[in-house]
Amino acid sequence: MAIRALPDHIISRIAAGEVIERPASAVKELVENALDAGARRIAISLSSGGKALIRVADDGAGIAADDLPLAVQRHATSKLDDEDDLVSIGTLGFRGEALASIGSVARLRIATRTPGAAHALAIGVSGGAVGAVEPAARDTGTTVEVRDLFHAVPARLKFLRSDRAETSAVADQIRRLALAAPGVHFHLESEGRTLIDLPAETGANGLSRRIVAVLGSDLDGNMVPVERAREGFALSGHVSLPTHHRATGRDLYLVVNGRPVRDKLLLGALRAAYQDVLTRERFPVAVLFIDCEPGLVDVNVHPAKAEVRFQNPGLVRAL
Ligand code: ADP
Ligand code: MG
Repeated sequence: MAIRALPDHIISRIAAGEVIERPASAVKELVENALDAGARRIAISLSSGGKALIRVADDGAGIAADDLPLAVQRHATSKLDDEDDLVSIGTLGFRGEALASIGSVARLRIATRTPGAAHALAIGVSGGAVGAVEPAARDTGTTVEVRDLFHAVPARLKFLRSDRAETSAVADQIRRLALAAPGVHFHLESEGRTLIDLPAETGANGLSRRIVAVLGSDLDGNMVPVERAREGFALSGHVSLPTHHRATGRDLYLVVNGRPVRDKLLLGALRAAYQDVLTRERFPVAVLFIDCEPGLVDVNVHPAKAEVRFQNPGLVRAL
């Protein structure tokens, strides 16, 4: 067969396959957008584990009228000035792909209002087709609704797990993001029932209160603060006392420049740090933040942005 360029709706579905694997990945992208918009409160609602409905409402900056049709287009983003910026990304999003991807595999509706706007606006996308911008009602902020995720991609639909399993994957995702952003109020409900309600934590002990609220009250008084800086990298957060450990490594949370990541290098370094005080079968609890100039870390190495690559991994490991 001769080579031909693929039509746009197929390109979007291919891209969607990489970014949006299941309801939890859609929720991750939408919550990241809310955080990038400076939201102080983010409310997530699910129906059927997010398969029937995901709604993410925030009180962030909103989307201006002229930008709204662009927001749902592929490779359209307000977060990069030009190509050079890929070396200094300060936001969670930057590819301009999430909303277009979701709109190509689900029915998407966005209602949004910027501060000072006379009223809110809404736009709908279904099967990649973008509707007209219409007036809507809401306060400053943005509500994104995703209905019938993957109805256009039956092959993907088959791989989704039970409503319960998908709901719990969403809840894990929210907890991870909530640990990374303790100053933001997170609320998750499913079928009208509140599953997570984490009021905004501020002040010196904000992070430790958030950790206790998310990871368990057994950690109260059993974590120690960490604070170190070295050659452009700042390490901060809380780690458990050696007397306090878990059977799995699931409560090891790493946040690089505000982005929750899974990093083998850092996890290895953390375990090595505990090797004299913990047996190999036990794991510490840790919520650690690494902050550095955006140029020192490449965040564009993973489709779901769950991994990063440091320019100088040895230095970060040593820290
Ligand atoms: P990216 O986040 O990589 O820019 P997205 O497809 O996730 O790409 O979003 C496209 C654009 O839509 C963003 O750059 C932003 O300008 C706008 N946007 C999306 N969600 C929100 C939101 N909740 N609040 C304000 N603006 C938003
Ligand atoms: Mg985004």
